[in-house]
Amino acid sequence: MPKLKAIVIGAGIAGIASAVRLAVKGYQVDVFEANAKPGGKLGEINMNGFRFDAGPSLFTMPQYVDELFKLAGKNPEDYFKYIKLKEICRYFYEDGLRLNATADLDQFAKDIAEKTHSTAAEARHYFKKSKTIYEVTHRVFLERSLHKLKSYLHWDTLKSIFRFGQIDAFRTQAKANQSFFKDERIAQLFNRYATYNGSDPYQAPATLNVIPHFEYHFGAYIPKDGMYGIVNALVKLAEELGIRFHYSQKVEEILHSKTGKTKIEGVKVNDKTYRADIVVSNLDIWFTYKNLLKDITEPKKLLTQERSSSALIFYWGMDSSYSDLGLHNIFFAKDYQKEFSAIWKDKTLSHDPTVYVNITSKHIRNDAPANAENWFVMINVPANNGQNWDQLINEARANIIKKINRILNRNIERDIVCEQTLDPRGIESKTGSYQGALYGNSSNNQFSAFLRHSNFSSKVKNLYFCGGSVHPGGGIPLALLSARIIDDDIRPVQ
Ligand code: FAD
Repeated sequence: MPKLKAIVIGAGIAGIASAVRLAVKGYQVDVFEANAKPGGKLGEINMNGFRFDAGPSLFTMPQYVDELFKLAGKNPEDYFKYIKLKEICRYFYEDGLRLNATADLDQFAKDIAEKTHSTAAEARHYFKKSKTIYEVTHRVFLERSLHKLKSYLHWDTLKSIFRFGQIDAFRTQAKANQSFFKDERIAQLFNRYATYNGSDPYQAPATLNVIPHFEYHFGAYIPKDGMYGIVNALVKLAEELGIRFHYSQKVEEILHSKTGKTKIEGVKVNDKTYRADIVVSNLDIWFTYKNLLKDITEPKKLLTQERSSSALIFYWGMDSSYSDLGLHNIFFAKDYQKEFSAIWKDKTLSHDPTVYVNITSKHIRNDAPANAENWFVMINVPANNGQNWDQLINEARANIIKKINRILNRNIERDIVCEQTLDPRGIESKTGSYQGALYGNSSNNQFSAFLRHSNFSSKVKNLYFCGGSVHPGGGIPLALLSARIIDDDIRPVQ
């Protein structure tokens, strides 16, 4: 019997994970990727002896990566190693306050109590609430399809539905955090978690307070070879499973039968037809419909939801080392609400943005030359609506430098020895993400989870969708879960 064939469009993290799962199921898998390299948003930049992870920098839920090796009967450690972080993030405020968020919650709560007007009890109460939201939501909203009846017939799903009152969906995250913490700087610290899926804490439901549970309960990690090490390890596994990667091969059309029950037939690349029994699209659902499925009526409501925020990133090779800084560092805006209002209402940048600085060379020495550091400097920005980015980038660069100089009392600009920039236009052109949004749609309202596209097509049999723009959402862990949800729906080859 010839093997059943599967085609995956896009070698983003969810595309590679889907390919691995299909190969394990017994399919012959081909992956077509528009870029010359795999990874999509999870990219890598090498410049003048410095290495940078181009996109994601925070790694949580490594077990979702490990499970792919285990599924294939391999030992994850033979491919992929990572370290659990003791220190999660260093927070810097303009008034001089500095906090270290540690994996040891008691220590973090003590630090909060000693340095701010909030108490350790407030912090503990908050983490308890975060855990409750996780317990109620993870099976229903994250691990199963929201679009299959069978998901609702599980006893644990029904139990969760009865507890929905506990997920804090009817006030904003900022309102909730104001009630959890007396000190507004601590409320601000936890409001930041809305940005982990590209949302606005002043609009998004307090259900997003689930996010810290991933970081503080399950832990924050750093892959020993950097974030791009995840891609390298998974591609190695995939190739060992016989999966064929076709780089610089942009899929032009998804082919399906036009008569009878619409069934998948394959894809068209460079005018050539490749037949398949299953097709999984890993590209942004917007472009999947607009470019590859032009003859299928698009789900307008889902496609016209507000996009998540994007990012402006400066990759700076720094000819100095900064002992005040750790792996993850946040320099907070003085007026957080004003910053989000600029991004979400005015679709522009604040003059005082919150700045995130990630320095992997703190852990991975080879990422920068001796006594130097690789700075990934990022601010949240609106999705691309045709703003004057060149002007905004110049202004942002000056504001970021001024802010870090002020807080660290240093002159950082003279340490920058090489530089690259990535903005929403580049994110869209390099990774095929509509408007450069980092996480598909925003989660700025209670219904967002229900307004993400499902992981399968209701129009074309055996057409599936994975990745950050479809259910359950963006970020590496959820993108990996999208591949798992698809896997649950596909029968192994007999
Ligand atoms: P994508 O990465 O979106 O890849 C899609 C792939 O499809 C691309 O390789 C593209 O080239 C390819 N493609 C597009 N069109 C075609 C076509 N027609 N034919 C063939 N191939 C095509 N997540 C975290 O968990 N932690 C973080 O700290 C974090 N920070 C981030 C920071 C930045 C700057 C960015 C950009 C993202 C960040 N994210 C983070 C989000 C995370 O990177 C994404 O959610 C995740 O990588 C998305 O993966 P995906 O599977 O959806 O594929």
